[in-house]
Amino acid sequence: MRNLLILGAGTAGTMIANKLRRRLDRDDWQITIVDQDDRHHYQPGYLFLPFGTYTEKQVVRSRHTFLPDGVDFVVAEVDRIDPEASSVALTDGRSLAYDYLVIATGTTPRPDQTPGMLGPEWRKSIFDFYTLEGSKALAEALKDFDHGRLVVHVTEMPIKCPVAPLEFAFLAESYLRERGIRDRVELTYVTPLPGAFTKPAASEHLGSMLDERKISLESDFMVESIDNEKKALVSYDEREVPFDLLVTVPLNMGADFVARSGMGDELNYVPVDKHTLQSKKYANVFAVGDAGDIPASKAGSVAHFAVEIFVDNFLELIGGRPMTGSFDGHANCFIESGDGKGLLIDFNYDTEPLPGKFPLPKVGPLDLLKESRANHVGKLAFRHIYWNVLLPGRPVPLPTHMSMAGKVTTSTNQEK
Ligand SMILES: Cc1cc2nc3c(=O)[nH]c(=O)nc-3n(C[C@H](O)[C@H](O)[C@H](O)COP(=O)(O)OP(=O)(O)OC[C@H]3O[C@@H](n4cnc5c(N)ncnc54)[C@H](O)[C@@H]3O)c2cc1C
Repeated sequence: MRNLLILGAGTAGTMIANKLRRRLDRDDWQITIVDQDDRHHYQPGYLFLPFGTYTEKQVVRSRHTFLPDGVDFVVAEVDRIDPEASSVALTDGRSLAYDYLVIATGTTPRPDQTPGMLGPEWRKSIFDFYTLEGSKALAEALKDFDHGRLVVHVTEMPIKCPVAPLEFAFLAESYLRERGIRDRVELTYVTPLPGAFTKPAASEHLGSMLDERKISLESDFMVESIDNEKKALVSYDEREVPFDLLVTVPLNMGADFVARSGMGDELNYVPVDKHTLQSKKYANVFAVGDAGDIPASKAGSVAHFAVEIFVDNFLELIGGRPMTGSFDGHANCFIESGDGKGLLIDFNYDTEPLPGKFPLPKVGPLDLLKESRANHVGKLAFRHIYWNVLLPGRPVPLPTHMSMAGKVTTSTNQEK
């Protein structure tokens, strides 16, 4: 019997377990998956909880529901990997041997890494929405908030779902308007980036959407600390942004056990080949999803496309053949923009988000880099696709590699 061990039963780990259980011979291969609890969170849902669109019940389910027969699910915390001995120690003292290891333990918000973030104002006037608890607490705070300075803040890149804080700002603006109190609230978006987003065409477009909504942009802001007494973000270049309600995205980091095992970079991400997701150091180790250091967005869609490549490559590898699949960094993300509308962006390592139609040229029905009702409906429908199609590892009718079909390249956005 050979052992495939998957660490993390989140988006990537669950898909891999489902897909490979169908394709690996049960007499030859044991598959084990480890996670610290039995609650699978649909993380994109955290964005909607503060606005009452979703309830907790709609975004959390038992992990068991999504893991097939023939996969051993171990509920335990990973303590350390010993890559030389090909074994993993759990914090409860057990140890698991592997022939092949997939690290799919994602990335986690770390408010403890910014001085003052976890100070006396934490969950009083400082909130996050990158955790279920944070998002629920923010829902209560937003209900009571009726005037003052609302600041949406990104600590440092990379973060998972890099568009989520922008979406939060757009949704908050529309929510305040609906409540008839928009003119009593000053909205500011604070980011370490030079503009609203990472990629030039998208950054320009999303920046103009902030302008239209009278959300001021404080860019190149590297936060040094949060002053709880003054209720202000303080940057290394001594700028201060005061707030009455702060919605922050803390520094995101890979799991601490990756660092303890000597297998991570400075943010605990596992260095891997960006096309095969194979560890640069250990041929029998892969990091799939947010846990790896590939220069793609940390997003569920990226995890999904990467899993498709990984699974075929893995079968080639164990069959003694060279891995022929090459992941292109494909990301496909809906961006909520408020008022029942949204945008869609589709890009990869080499091509930035461009305008156009998706998935079919001219027909769409979805618009790229343009607000539409269909994109909002697509974003909400995605929750059902996630639970019923994606996680169980069923085929999704979307190309794994990014396609240029339907995308409009102008001389302007090509130059950028
Ligand atoms: C607010 C928000 C909005 C988002 N919106 C979108 C969106 O619209 N579109 C999109 O594509 N993506 C979105 N994402 C990102 C998406 O949820 C993640 O990128 C995706 O879940 C990554 O999958 P993963 O398998 O790498 O990690 P995860 O799904 O996070 O799974 C990691 C698993 O590892 C486990 N784990 C970690 N450490 C240990 C340990 N020491 N021992 C045992 N288990 C451990 C965790 O419990 C977890 O279950 C959003 C994320 C957030 C927070």
